[in-house]
Amino acid sequence: MSQYDVAIIGSGPGGYVAAIRCAQLGMKTAIIEKYSTLGGTCLNVGCIPSKALLASSHHYEEATKHFEEHGIEIPGDIKVNLEKMIGRKQAVVDQTTGGIDFLMKKNNIDVFEGIGSFKDATHIKIEGKDAGEIEAKNIIIATGSKPSNLPFITLDKERVITSTEALKLKEIPKHMIVIGGGVIGLELGQVYRRLGSEVTVIEYMDRILPTMDAALSKELNKVFKKAKFNMMVSHKVQSVERKGKEVIVKAENKKGEVVEFKGDYCLVSVGRKPYTDGLNAEAAGVKLTDRGQVEVNEHLQTNVSNIYAIGDVVKGAMLAHKAEEEGVFVAETIAGQKPHIDYNLIPGVVYTWPEVAAVGKTEEELKEAGADYKVGQFPFRALGRARAGGDLDGFVKILADKKTDEVLGIHMIGARCADLIAEAVTAMEFRASAEDISRMSHAHPTYAEAIKEAALAATEDRALHV
Ligand code: FAD
Repeated sequence: MSQYDVAIIGSGPGGYVAAIRCAQLGMKTAIIEKYSTLGGTCLNVGCIPSKALLASSHHYEEATKHFEEHGIEIPGDIKVNLEKMIGRKQAVVDQTTGGIDFLMKKNNIDVFEGIGSFKDATHIKIEGKDAGEIEAKNIIIATGSKPSNLPFITLDKERVITSTEALKLKEIPKHMIVIGGGVIGLELGQVYRRLGSEVTVIEYMDRILPTMDAALSKELNKVFKKAKFNMMVSHKVQSVERKGKEVIVKAENKKGEVVEFKGDYCLVSVGRKPYTDGLNAEAAGVKLTDRGQVEVNEHLQTNVSNIYAIGDVVKGAMLAHKAEEEGVFVAETIAGQKPHIDYNLIPGVVYTWPEVAAVGKTEEELKEAGADYKVGQFPFRALGRARAGGDLDGFVKILADKKTDEVLGIHMIGARCADLIAEAVTAMEFRASAEDISRMSHAHPTYAEAIKEAALAATEDRALHV
């Protein structure tokens, strides 16, 4: 039987990054993945394919709606070839997952294809292509998550679908009903809206992106309404019924009235749940929480001392970069180091256009905590670069401690915010004050100038360009 210092179950961004770091630290490492491709949800049916389709649909929208104003004329009709678009997405996925195969080889990590299940706290049985058993001193559970559903909805995966099917549709829906106004529903909703579908977003809470700063929700809602999305907040879905090619969704509004929506596709994007099916965690004595997560302490260690868990299968934000940080953290912990993760500084990003990104505390959280804070906000439309690029929507909002001026949260919506948020994370990692940011030179003309201007606005209302 093969013996390892560390065996990792699951090859998503948590698992494969943990494997690389373990190997870098000199540990003999194995990774077990039930699918034939590595990379987990993120690379196969999550982050990467959704961004590929967002990019393609963005190009289409630019070509059909914005080229003309730039003086670019295309003779004849511009058409979508959905099969080709989905094919390109798959090629991007294949190239990316192939890259993980290369990284596993480069780092001498043994890859086993099959379902990994515990026999006991140090032995894993593998069922599938590479069937067998391995022994490991340390085991990392990185089995990720699966889409959640509402108890009364039958997902037929043809017309009542999850994000996984929405990434490989064979036709452009006439009317896609999206249940859930969170990140995944909004991103995929925008893909199909750009391609010409009517899109209705039904959200139970009183705003989309309910966990982000309310100012961001409000601005994105405004932009989506301008793009003719039907935005239905405060609607509680009661039933989803399929009749041939039609899907009928009934939802109760704030007044208690039942509203009916008829579409040809319904995307159910109501969140994700931790995945431990087939893991046989009981055999190792590993405890799960009531919510089905693997229970871990502050070292991401389970109740069994040589077994750790990371990523979507444990508490915290279900994000690829959070899983990656945890992968590195556990590898270094096993190697005897003392790593650290500041969960307050894990950024959240929505890759719609405009992009939405945030780090630190929201204004709602600060209010609830009774914190004494101040706000500096700056609109992108006041920037030369935004006008030159034609991307005028959105703003940067900085929240800082009223007394010390330390930055407590940075929230932004606008062009390129997914990348701009890295500056906010850096500043907060070094515990910058708003004054610190306001005194850093930002290249002109850039979208990043909005961060400097918002910091100036937060410190004695000194923004220069409004
Ligand atoms: P996963 O990526 O879910 O990987 C777990 C792996 O474990 C899977 O490959 C699974 O097959 C395998 N596995 C499970 N059980 C076993 C077993 N018993 N034996 C062997 N293998 C097993 N996050 C972002 O940060 N940015 C984004 O832009 C983003 N976009 C997303 C878009 C969509 C449509 C979706 C669905 C998700 C998106 N996410 C995004 C979330 C992101 O994909 C997850 O947070 C991330 O993949 C979690 O990584 P993980 O390693 O914990 O688990």
